Amino acid sequence: MNLIIVGPPGAGKGTQAKLLEQTRGYVQLSTGDMLRGAVSEGTPLGERAKVVMDRGEFVPDEVMVELISQKLDEIVDRPFILDGFPRTEKQALELDLLLSNKSRIMGAVIELMVDKEVLIDRIVSRFTCVRCGEVYNKRFKRPQVEGCCDQCEGKEFLRRTDDSEEVMRNRLKAYHSHTAPLLAYYGNRGLLRSVDGMVGLNAVAAQIAGILDG
Ligand code: AMP
Repeated sequence: MNLIIVGPPGAGKGTQAKLLEQTRGYVQLSTGDMLRGAVSEGTPLGERAKVVMDRGEFVPDEVMVELISQKLDEIVDRPFILDGFPRTEKQALELDLLLSNKSRIMGAVIELMVDKEVLIDRIVSRFTCVRCGEVYNKRFKRPQVEGCCDQCEGKEFLRRTDDSEEVMRNRLKAYHSHTAPLLAYYGNRGLLRSVDGMVGLNAVAAQIAGILDG
């Protein structure tokens, strides 16, 4: 069952999508990770995207739709989980077209619900392994061995440049103005499943498993 995982920045979309990739063979299609990859490779897309991302604004819809279209072609018919896309009504409409042209079906849209104060707190204490991109949190999820990535044993970590409190406030505004309205769009089509994203990551994963298996 193909999925969209939706929720405000810091809700845990990437963490849950990665878990689903490891446990159920999904392909995680994270537009944020794709853009950060382009930024670190210094491609023309990365150069354009960095300016927008550092302000907490959105990369233009056409660019994002093209990026997702290419990725969907690359994964052929494997089940996928969209993380960070669609983020606007235009992207959602274009996604419907893409899926129908590629004969793919969306099975469910999983919303992670988290209060705003908790989100800011989570984001400002988040850090990532430079080598493999594993995401940690100073307060909730530290590496098991301090300074050493659990996944790849990398020793270098960084903070996302858009994870400051000021940029986070813009990202939240963008989420509420442009992305939250998509919840009604998918709700009206009977696809929306909302889960409590305030509990621990395993408890969130259990709720998602209940949806997928139920
Ligand atoms: P994320 O990792 O999902 O929080 O995305 C980080 C940043 O990448 C966002 O704040 C946007 O600037 C940009 N971005 C990611 N996905 C999209 C998208 N679907 N549409 C527009 N901008 C995006």
